[in-house]
Amino acid sequence: MTQQITHSELDEAVKRSPRKWVYLFSEGNASMRELLGGKGAGVAEMTNAGLPVPPGFTITTEACNGYYDNNRQFPEGVWEQAKAALAIVEKQTGKGFGSKENPLLVSVRSGAKFSMPGMMDTVLNLGINDETVLGLVALTGDERFAYDAYRRFIQMFSKIVLDTNPQDFEVVLERYKHEAGVKTDAEIPAADLKKMVTEFKQIAERASGQPFPTDVYQQLHKAIEAVFSSWNNKRAIDYRNFNKIPHNLGTGVNVQSMVFGNMGNNSGTGVAFTRNPAHGEKKLYGEYLLNAQGEDVVAGIRTPSPISKLEQDLPDVYQQFLEIAQRLEKHYRDMQDLEFTVEQGKLYMLQTRSGKRNAGAAVKIAVDMVEEGLITPEEAVKRVEPSQVYQLLLPRFDEAEKRRAEQEGRLLAKGLNASPGAAYGKAIFDADRAEELGKAGTPVVLVRPETSPDDVHGMLVAKGILTARGGATSHAAVVARGLGLPCVAGCEGIRVNEEQHLFRVIGSDTVIKEGDDISIDGATGEVFAGIIKTVDADFDKETDLKKLLNWADEFRKLGVWANADYPRDAKRAVTFGAQGIGLCRTEHMFMEQERLPIVQKMILSKTKEEREAALDQLLPFQQSDFKGIFSAMVDPQTNEGYPVVIRLIDPPLHEFLPSYEELLVEVTRLETQGGHEEELAEKRQMLEAVGAMREMNPMLGLRGCRLGLLFPEINVMQTRAILGAAAELEKEGKKLHPKIMIPLVGHVNELKEVRRQLEAVAAEIAKDAGKPIDYKFGTMIELPRAALTADQIASVADFFSFGTNDLTQTTFGYSRDDAEGKFLLKYVEGLEEPGLKDKVKILPVNPFQTLDRDGVGQLVAMAVEKGRKTNPDIELGICGEHGGDPDSIEFCNEVGLNYVSCSPFRVPVARLAAAQAALSRAEKDR
Ligand code: ADP
Ligand code: MG
Ligand code: MG
Repeated sequence: MTQQITHSELDEAVKRSPRKWVYLFSEGNASMRELLGGKGAGVAEMTNAGLPVPPGFTITTEACNGYYDNNRQFPEGVWEQAKAALAIVEKQTGKGFGSKENPLLVSVRSGAKFSMPGMMDTVLNLGINDETVLGLVALTGDERFAYDAYRRFIQMFSKIVLDTNPQDFEVVLERYKHEAGVKTDAEIPAADLKKMVTEFKQIAERASGQPFPTDVYQQLHKAIEAVFSSWNNKRAIDYRNFNKIPHNLGTGVNVQSMVFGNMGNNSGTGVAFTRNPAHGEKKLYGEYLLNAQGEDVVAGIRTPSPISKLEQDLPDVYQQFLEIAQRLEKHYRDMQDLEFTVEQGKLYMLQTRSGKRNAGAAVKIAVDMVEEGLITPEEAVKRVEPSQVYQLLLPRFDEAEKRRAEQEGRLLAKGLNASPGAAYGKAIFDADRAEELGKAGTPVVLVRPETSPDDVHGMLVAKGILTARGGATSHAAVVARGLGLPCVAGCEGIRVNEEQHLFRVIGSDTVIKEGDDISIDGATGEVFAGIIKTVDADFDKETDLKKLLNWADEFRKLGVWANADYPRDAKRAVTFGAQGIGLCRTEHMFMEQERLPIVQKMILSKTKEEREAALDQLLPFQQSDFKGIFSAMVDPQTNEGYPVVIRLIDPPLHEFLPSYEELLVEVTRLETQGGHEEELAEKRQMLEAVGAMREMNPMLGLRGCRLGLLFPEINVMQTRAILGAAAELEKEGKKLHPKIMIPLVGHVNELKEVRRQLEAVAAEIAKDAGKPIDYKFGTMIELPRAALTADQIASVADFFSFGTNDLTQTTFGYSRDDAEGKFLLKYVEGLEEPGLKDKVKILPVNPFQTLDRDGVGQLVAMAVEKGRKTNPDIELGICGEHGGDPDSIEFCNEVGLNYVSCSPFRVPVARLAAAQAALSRAEKDR
């Protein structure tokens, strides 16, 4: 039958229009996602592959954009083409839209280029009115079915097109069920459904102030408009913001002839994934409901059965579905998420798309598909999000405990998955109390309606954050991600009562009071009552992840190193695949208990001799620290040491001394109390010294290389310790490549002078050791002036390491702590402007998290170019936090750095991100 149908009506309509706005399913294909939306492209592809798809057509995303450009009116030709296409669907189905004898019903479905599940609207059963419903009765001989379809249509149409409160219908539905003494919707008798239809229409009329549309074309027109409008509902906008989907893509509208899964016990509807989306197992996974319509499965009105039940109920259909599922997966070469309906024993496919999956499943599926020969290692590497790798390494709920919690009905609500990781703790409703308990070692989950900078002190000690309001860029979400804390934001299923220190779970009697245990999963957005224990990830057991990362290593150009101050961290970094230490900070070594008094003595020394005496005491400590780090970084098989960059002392010296204010209080107390002469004298001396060292702006004061220039003894001691440690290990047969890094250089003369001092020390050590050590001298580039004069600096440096934290501070003129506490997060989230609907965003992202390419990035690029000009062999890396951020890593790849260095936990993320950066660069160059 289909063959004889011509498209001439549609072709004619297109000729009369400025462009083609409407495509029959048979005219589209998978490559047209941009124009048809993912759903439209998917059903078109299935149609052309000969799969059973109910006929229909797609109105393009361009028409949606045209609708917005045209003052929310259909652009010229859209409606005419839609009617022409509908006429073809009438022929294909042999039914008539609005026909009393054999009515065609359609669904009107949204669908954008990127799937946004549940974010936009869909209307089913469109085309029913008081007349066509009679046709439906005559045709099916099933009055119950026909009026059930009718009441569903009024409900959906009212909610989506007329903006009626869905609750108004639910109340009536419940009343009817109660009066009829039945439990499920499906048991309501036909006579009652008929009455219900009348009542439903009245509700809709009351709410909208207009008669319920009986004209089927009017119904269609309004439903298409509603789907266009749903592109810009708040849910959809928030979703796009969170997932970084552009706002100008528009949605397609799919008008499709209805098939009915609710036509008795040889009918049904379901959804299925071709592999398990929770852990990736290659086995059909899904849910299915006998005698039900599509939305029943998602709406949770009845509990669906596992897909395996279909095998028992309708074995032939199951077999056919299984084959189609496998075919689609092979065809798309990815795990598919499918929707299907069975109408009286006949299977129809309604949707196929790449399925969403969690981190573990993403990795397993990618690796399995390579091993099955379905995709290449390169594709596998491109498919897994670096953030998913990070999630895999975070603590998560113990599976068995979580399942138990679910069975016990302890899942309270679901919010936005704002920052991954799982946590449990006592629910605490204000930041002060959270701080108090948290500092005392009690695990705390801070629960707030939403957070503000006033809550940060509580967030810092909390194990996790839960908010009732606010999206994925809300204060809570941004801060939590920065801190690496699990966060569930915008959890609308709970109502927080700040005064009473509790939250209620909407739609239940459950109340969680201050001090009650709760558990949250920031990767899924789930909130549970009680404790669900968490387990730390075990990288060694992640064999699939390791395979994936090994493939990534083959593609990447950037080296991946780690920032580590302790041998323990260095070892962990190596397990994660780090190829060197890009930043080892030495100041913590000064802070340790038995050393701090010596450090203070050194700082307070009046003469060079006194200072040298203190430094001599520190030397053995430092030397053993460095030996520890170097040893951790020697490959036991080859005895070859990975490169280790050790940075000489950087922070202002007062950080090692007690605070001026505290000392002042102490001295005053001792003075008024009398006695304690000795203690008083000591404190007075300290107070004087600290007072003399006080700076208005310590971050811009006497720190970094400036310290070593004023007190060369400090640098000399540190260099002796570094090279001495290397010499000791070389004696044991190991090969070492220490790199000494001088911080905060702004003028080439600073570096020249430090280098002169230290080369003398190196020569001394080499003489003692009897052979030279392969050391290098380099500098941080973390001041704009250093970047601007990088050519001069490179002539005396063997390597540069971009310290993009300080470089961001000094380029923006932000002091990080002050900025993040006071205004920066507001800049990112947007400022409230009275009179404006949208918040005014000043910055797209926090520049301390993602490198600011336009400003800071330009300085980096300039320093790379200038540095290589005067010193072609110079080695270039980055050691700011940006070294672990995928977007910043892409930038590092673009400007041609040699390596990135990041915290050990970020090393796997960086390996994958670096590979993806290299692959996408290669693609662009092709
Ligand atoms: P969403 O994107 O929210 O999943 P859909 O457009 O896919 O919305 O539709 C919602 C539900 O209605 C799905 O279960 C789908 O299978 C079902 N559905 C859509 N169109 C039809 C149709 N023509 N016949 C039967 N069921 C349909
Ligand atoms: Mg769907
Ligand atoms: Mg710095």
